[in-house]
Amino acid sequence: MKGFLAGFLALVTLAWGWDWMSANGALAPITAWTVRRDALHLTGLWSFSLMSLAMVLSTRPAWLERPFGGMDRIYRTHKWAGILAIGLAAAHWLVEMSDDLIKAVLGREGRLPKEHAGGFVEAMRDVAEEFGEWAIYALLAMLVLTLWKRFPFTIWRYLHKVMPVLYLMLALHAAFLAPIGFWSQPVGALLAVFIAAGSIASVQSLAGWIGRRRRVGGVVEAVREPGPGVTEVTCRLNESWQGHRAGQFAFVTFDRFEGAHPFTIASADRGNRRITFAIKALGDYTRGLAERLQAGQAVQVEGPYGRFDFRSSTRRTEQIWIAGGIGVTPFLAWLESLQCTPDEVPDVDFYYSTRQRDADPFVARLEALCANLPAIRLHVFSSDRNETLTASTVHERHAASRRPEIWFCGPRGLADALQDGLRRLGLGRARFHREAFEMR
Ligand SMILES: Cc1cc2nc3c(=O)[nH]c(=O)nc-3n(C[C@H](O)[C@H](O)[C@H](O)COP(=O)(O)OP(=O)(O)OC[C@H]3O[C@@H](n4cnc5c(N)ncnc54)[C@H](O)[C@@H]3O)c2cc1C
Repeated sequence: MKGFLAGFLALVTLAWGWDWMSANGALAPITAWTVRRDALHLTGLWSFSLMSLAMVLSTRPAWLERPFGGMDRIYRTHKWAGILAIGLAAAHWLVEMSDDLIKAVLGREGRLPKEHAGGFVEAMRDVAEEFGEWAIYALLAMLVLTLWKRFPFTIWRYLHKVMPVLYLMLALHAAFLAPIGFWSQPVGALLAVFIAAGSIASVQSLAGWIGRRRRVGGVVEAVREPGPGVTEVTCRLNESWQGHRAGQFAFVTFDRFEGAHPFTIASADRGNRRITFAIKALGDYTRGLAERLQAGQAVQVEGPYGRFDFRSSTRRTEQIWIAGGIGVTPFLAWLESLQCTPDEVPDVDFYYSTRQRDADPFVARLEALCANLPAIRLHVFSSDRNETLTASTVHERHAASRRPEIWFCGPRGLADALQDGLRRLGLGRARFHREAFEMR
């Protein structure tokens, strides 16, 4: 993700640099005023391009899943593009405000004349300036709420819906305040593409069209509580459901007012449009879900999404699967799908970390599924028995492996600890795939 965002900004900078060279030439004198002008253009351009990228990625473009490596990564890139865009918008605003400071310190000499477009465009420029300023204040407030993890997600989600409106205000700002010279240069073409793509994405979002083609209705067939704090829901979907690959997830709406929540499909595709979710009580909505759901009620499922799929590994190497708590769901789907295709089973050590083995609703099921698949060795680690899954445990058992593939799904803290620990212990050559269960 970091590389992609850096490359994206490099492309924008290159386009701006092209315009700069043709407008100023290499020997143009550099003054505080020219630096201010260039910083104003560049921060504005960076911020707006990233905001457009974030807007496009928010439409859940399934065609980008392959290059990005899955929808969870698309969301992570969306999040960081948005955060960076807001930081740069703040920098853009500060540069804009710096003219009084430059005047006070260096005087007015060398001040660059303001570009005047005249008529309608000039009038729109005043409006665009106001729009930009108010949008930046709103974006900064949104950034604070996004980074403040204790702020309730449900309220945050509703506030976040205002982003397309803010984007359209910024698009107007960019369209009318970009220097006129930009429009005859590659940077102008790039800006026009961003404005068009971001505006289309905003309209899609405001109209509620995101994911529309992948939305399928259905009914809840069964609701079970296989263990404390876990609800298992089986749904039967309409004919338009195209099936899923084991390891994928979907956005599920049981309650129209609550909206969609992402859950992994914890069952394999049996071709009967029946899918199961195992849902852990992790927050306001998922707590007490079993009492609120009833067999026969309507459900809407949008998906499938995701590329968490051990089959996508091209190399025939040893695999290490690691599940932490409810992160077991994609592995349940994998194991179920392998029951009918045992010849596809790779050589796997599967580590499942749970708090309490005896009360865990998944251990017996995992054991039963693995019993038919001798190439998969299941290791259960239970915290209440002082069995902690650490990087050293994995390293000790796999130090001799040439370049294992690690597939991880579980809490972010465990993933970070394992990934960092394995790198320190020298298993850094392992490929670490992880599914993020967090989108904010
Ligand atoms: C790709 C993916 C797959 C997942 N698979 C499973 C699964 O198989 N089983 C399971 O129990 N949990 C799964 N989760 C997590 C599950 O989505 C959240 O636990 C659930 O949405 C929490 O909702 P809440 O209102 O109870 O909690 P809250 O306290 O409101 O939210 C807790 C956290 O859950 C996330 N979240 C909440 N609502 C949404 C939403 N509408 N859209 C996106 N993220 C949200 C946010 O990160 C939030 O900070 C998955 C998450 C993702 C992203």
